[in-house]
Amino acid sequence: MNLHAADQGPAPAPSPERVLDWQEGFAALGPAFYTELRPTPLPEPQWVATSAGVAELLGLDAQWMAGDEALQALTGNTLLAGSRPLASVYSGHQFGVWAGQLGDGRAILLGETTSGQEIQLKGAGRTPYSRMGDGRAVLRSSIREFLCSEAMHALGIPTTRALSVTSSPAPVRREEIETAAVVARVAPSFIRFGHFEHFAARDQIGPLRQLADYVIDRYYPECRTAQALSGNACANLLQAVSERTARLLAQWQAVGFCHGVMNTDNMSILGLTIDYGPFQFLDAFNPGHICNHSDSQGRYAFNRQPQVAYWNLYCLGQALLPLIGDEDLTIAALESYKQVFPQAYGTLMLRKLGLPADAQDTPPAEGRFASLVNPLLQLLADNAVDYTIFFSRLTDAVAAADSAAPDFGAVRDLVLDRPAFDAWAAGYALQLGTVDQQAAVALMQASNPRFVLRNHLGEIAIRAARTGDFSVVRQLLAVLQKPFDHHAEHAPWAGFPPDWASSIEISCSS
Ligand code: AMP
Ligand code: MG
Repeated sequence: MNLHAADQGPAPAPSPERVLDWQEGFAALGPAFYTELRPTPLPEPQWVATSAGVAELLGLDAQWMAGDEALQALTGNTLLAGSRPLASVYSGHQFGVWAGQLGDGRAILLGETTSGQEIQLKGAGRTPYSRMGDGRAVLRSSIREFLCSEAMHALGIPTTRALSVTSSPAPVRREEIETAAVVARVAPSFIRFGHFEHFAARDQIGPLRQLADYVIDRYYPECRTAQALSGNACANLLQAVSERTARLLAQWQAVGFCHGVMNTDNMSILGLTIDYGPFQFLDAFNPGHICNHSDSQGRYAFNRQPQVAYWNLYCLGQALLPLIGDEDLTIAALESYKQVFPQAYGTLMLRKLGLPADAQDTPPAEGRFASLVNPLLQLLADNAVDYTIFFSRLTDAVAAADSAAPDFGAVRDLVLDRPAFDAWAAGYALQLGTVDQQAAVALMQASNPRFVLRNHLGEIAIRAARTGDFSVVRQLLAVLQKPFDHHAEHAPWAGFPPDWASSIEISCSS
């Protein structure tokens, strides 16, 4: 026996008082921007799923994440040392109408880590901004938000992330009685266009300026540099946000993502996808698709999204106008959206076809976009072709082609109007012949996911979760984290939606 070692005992397990180191972030703005309060506990929490990637991003120990301390803290039942929880106030335009004050009605910000990430618990109980709501989120919508956050990230689309989703048997009343869940969301900032609109609408120029300074200093420091568009930092901010939003919308449209509730309070100042509600990835390509069952007018239909984003930016511009102090400069800053969106969208759509973007100075109304992408979208719409499956099969056809022209048979099978497809494919094959085939395949394989979070996949995971079986959520997460891979064992999830998928109705109720 080694007495010396026995005397010392085993090295104590690291049990840091703080699992995260916090820094003063949003809270530094002061009480005009939020109310400090703690989450309201939920009974008998259980893990539904966690994202190892987000835990790593935060520097959270995997062992800690597996334990009860994490489960309680991420459900809002205990407070992590050093955190300073708060709910922020914002306003916004909902469905095109000024809605006045909104705010974090069920999300509580735990604070910002020294790695620059904010952690927010969604569904953590009532706040002064809950209005008529109960401050809770139900299991089904929490699973959808958790999975889609991580799916979008894996697709390379800017988004808030999700660290975990936990569930509780506590009843929550919606159309029927459901159960509660909490999503731990993570982002560098959860500031929305609506935060700016809030202070502008009240003529509170001091806080408005403070907010703009905070956002510029923390997230857009380049707006103050000499190389920026103008000497006006707030105009530069508006332009930078417009450009990020344009690129985000280009990515949504290219992947076939419909957000469903593009109110100005659901628009991130960082150009992130935020507030996953009745979103949907298109099955059959239908440009006018409305994914939100509550959106009777189709304001947020798939093909209206780019225009709505511009409208929302216009609201942000109006809110920033008192700081910019010049209407022409404000309009000029917004104009950038109209250049960046089509350029970015054109590039992404051509990549899906394995083709390099047209020359930077060629507007996408011309060249390959006009001759290939527009007719293709028309063909897909006319024939209600499954959007994701079309591009995956096209990728496989191009990848399988040797020196001969690709065999488009499996792609052609998707289209009822064969002569129209053949005409398009002939033009496409000609264009493909002008580029390096390996490079084309690489572009397509990195641009055309096989797996997206279709409504029915979420639904399958939710149905299992409601019986207490969270394994499907976790398997689906693993697949969606690598959406471009084959995952042969889950091939049906890359297939056509079942007939019942079209009867799924997703509303704002969450
Ligand atoms: P949303 O349409 O989900 O973005 O929500 C719009 C506003 O309603 C936001 O201010 C939310 O915080 C608030 N809200 C939505 N659901 C609830 C709820 N169950 N309890 C309290 N506030 C809610
Ligand atoms: Mg919202």
